[in-house]
Amino acid sequence: MALSMEIKPTAETRARRDDAGRGDEPQTPKQPAHPGRGEVSILIVDDTPENLVAMEAVLADVGRLVKVTSGQEALRALLKEEFAVILLDVNMPGMNGFETAALIRQRKQTEHVPIIFVTAISTTDTHMFKGYSLGAVDYIFTPVNAEVLRSKVSVFVELVRKSQAVKLQARQLQEANEILRTEIATRQKAEEALKESNDELEAFSYSVSHDLRAPVRAMQGFARVLVEDYGENLDDAARDYLDRIVAGACRMDALIQDLLVYSRLGHTELSLGPISLKQLVSEIVRQISPDIGAKHAEISVADDLPEVVANKMALGQAIENLITNGMKFVPDGRQPKVRIEAQTIGKLVRLWIIDNGIGIPEEYHSRIFRVFERLHTAETYPGTGIGLAIVRKGVERMNGHVGLESAPGKGSRFWIELPAAMAPAPAG
Ligand code: ADP
Repeated sequence: MALSMEIKPTAETRARRDDAGRGDEPQTPKQPAHPGRGEVSILIVDDTPENLVAMEAVLADVGRLVKVTSGQEALRALLKEEFAVILLDVNMPGMNGFETAALIRQRKQTEHVPIIFVTAISTTDTHMFKGYSLGAVDYIFTPVNAEVLRSKVSVFVELVRKSQAVKLQARQLQEANEILRTEIATRQKAEEALKESNDELEAFSYSVSHDLRAPVRAMQGFARVLVEDYGENLDDAARDYLDRIVAGACRMDALIQDLLVYSRLGHTELSLGPISLKQLVSEIVRQISPDIGAKHAEISVADDLPEVVANKMALGQAIENLITNGMKFVPDGRQPKVRIEAQTIGKLVRLWIIDNGIGIPEEYHSRIFRVFERLHTAETYPGTGIGLAIVRKGVERMNGHVGLESAPGKGSRFWIELPAAMAPAPAG
């Protein structure tokens, strides 16, 4: 059709054309106007080449333009690529704009592509309704106003750009999620493998400790029999050797017993419930009273000890180890004094075992909780080096934490932190 177009070039398009030194003739852009932003295409269908050129002058910097002169060519172009919007001339010879729109709407891939019909201002209402019933989103009347054309087309181009950006973000998010999922799966696998090997190690150390006890007991027993029954026939050196064998076997037995306790803590089910610290601490103090007496130690217990959620056996073992350490690591000649008190911190209870002993340099504060970590020889302070490892393992298995404040010569303040019991502990 012969479409009369009064295209008023915008300042932008005018400047661009002048820059190119091409006079007033509009040029076909080869590049999208916004490189870096996703390329968005606009399909212009008009049988009059001058109209195509005129529209191009206005829309060149809005998106990538594809110009065709018939309905058939438009359908072909739509098979090849996606468009943000189609500017469709209504009056074309052969297949007119409405027929072309009907065919476009029939294809699934193009049924939602916005179509703006370009038609004469004289268009009747019926004519327009026909266009809308074919899925037209808008009409542009000739003579076309450049600003109106630009702004109407820009709306759809921006819409596509935004949805491309959203899709890109969604893809990036999905990729990030995928990476995260893989990392979590890898970590889970590593944790499972670690747990498996820890379990194996614990089972191994448990069975080794268990099996070692019998021969050690035999060594201890027969060495004692030898001393008792044949001691008179032995000279001093032989008796001294035998004493050393007995002492060695006793130490080995103590080590094995501690290891057994430690490894048992790793794989026994610990049932948790409300425990009265007041009651538990007084039971422990009663049990170790021979040791307290032998060391002339002074144990003082705060009388407001609360209740915690714990396992009685594991917590009792931990507290006993801390009290006996508090009495043991004291300089020669000093009376051991151990104070037991508690502090409530929100929903947690911190039980303090405070001594007046030799103290511990800060660099060893975490090391001493490892198995066999000792800061002294057995001659200075006897022990197996497993006591604090038992404390930590037991407390952690009860969802608690352990720690200490200490410095050489200043005594030590060990603490065990456990969840406070909400309900009162059952009587008895
Ligand atoms: P053990 O008491 O059998 O040596 P532990 O695991 O109980 O083993 O303690 C590890 C080491 O931590 C001890 O050998 C000692 O050096 C240090 N230690 C533990 N408790 C105290 C304490 N209350 N005061 C000073 N040092 C301590």
